[in-house]
Amino acid sequence: MTCAFPLWLKIAGDGYPRGVTAVNTISLGLPAVRQTPEADPSRPADPRLVDTFGRVATDLRISLTDRCNLRCTYCMPAEGLEWMPREEQLTDAELLRLIGIAVGRLGIRELRFTGGEPLLRKGLEELVAASAALEPRPDISLTTNGIGLARRAAALTAAGVNRLNVSLDTLRPERFASITRRDRISDVLDGLAAARAAGLDPVKINSVLLRGVNDDEATDLLAFAVEHGYELRFIEQMPLDAQHGWERSEMVTAGEIMERLATRFTLTPDGEARGGAPAERFLVDGGPARVGVIASVTRPFCGACDRTRLTSDGQVRTCLFARSETDLRALLRGSASDEEIADVWRTAMWGKLAGHGIDDPGFLQPDRPMSAIGG
Ligand code: SAM
Ligand code: SF4
Repeated sequence: MTCAFPLWLKIAGDGYPRGVTAVNTISLGLPAVRQTPEADPSRPADPRLVDTFGRVATDLRISLTDRCNLRCTYCMPAEGLEWMPREEQLTDAELLRLIGIAVGRLGIRELRFTGGEPLLRKGLEELVAASAALEPRPDISLTTNGIGLARRAAALTAAGVNRLNVSLDTLRPERFASITRRDRISDVLDGLAAARAAGLDPVKINSVLLRGVNDDEATDLLAFAVEHGYELRFIEQMPLDAQHGWERSEMVTAGEIMERLATRFTLTPDGEARGGAPAERFLVDGGPARVGVIASVTRPFCGACDRTRLTSDGQVRTCLFARSETDLRALLRGSASDEEIADVWRTAMWGKLAGHGIDDPGFLQPDRPMSAIGG
């Protein structure tokens, strides 16, 4: 699927920040285009990550690795993917430098570590602790498949993780084994319990419903979450699988999910301001339990998006669905100063498109799959 042989094209550095060599990468499959954008004279002298539509990115999603120990059918093929060579991945020092720039210069207030599977990144606890030591202290969260979490939840909490999302699409062991191609549901359930025992609040569950596979479990998943004090969020399946097998007509929509939940629960809007949050949240049977639905496809929330994304090889993405990326790794490994890197990041975000356009006839899925972008 992915290609390990990027074709590097060096281009003259006119108009780039002082000391920065412009490098465009056109890889044969991953990602579509990498570029270092030219500073735009129309961009305001705002130190934050603003875009031309008035949005301000304050939430940084960081993919720590493209590797994973599960093989969810809607995410990657059974044989896995061609993993990114280690030397392409940012080192801890490089990553922490970028996080420091994001928090210290660009106004990032929330960090979410994801992947691939972030628990596979060696030294995760140290990365969290170093991020938590920054001023102002960012809110730190983690999205994980939960494998190995039981052993690490307490240490991650002590290091500074504030909130956690664990992915769980089914409560049935045989179904879990068939969706993830690994027989590990007890690890995930133990991980959830350990996260709660470590005092993390909220502990959220992410569920993707697949037609004819687990869409009959919407109410069971919610009953389980309510009973155990977890907050469930259903995510509409998005066209980000490495196999490019997503079909709009096959997707279980937010509307259908709500209909299914309404057969057993009374859901009322929770009345809280949503801000840039992707989930529409509802009180379950009057509360306090809540459920969220992330309708990225049928009810996109791009107008309120407050995210910027960093891949494990140091590429800034303005959106999950972006078809171009901005290379910060070349700057890190060159002689660029922190402020020069910050300014390239600002210019990238200034060019963020209005929306992802999944429903547009001309929509093209990004080449980089979800597991390499960071969900
Ligand atoms: N491995 C971790 C996990 O599964 O939680 C973190 C990375 S995973 C890419 C992040 C989230 O994206 C998970 O909740 C997963 O279910 C979701 N996801 C993966 N592929 C998806 C797709 N095509 N559409 C919607 N959600 C997807
Ligand atoms: Fe791995 Fe998460 Fe993708 Fe499942 S959804 S294969 S756990 S990266």
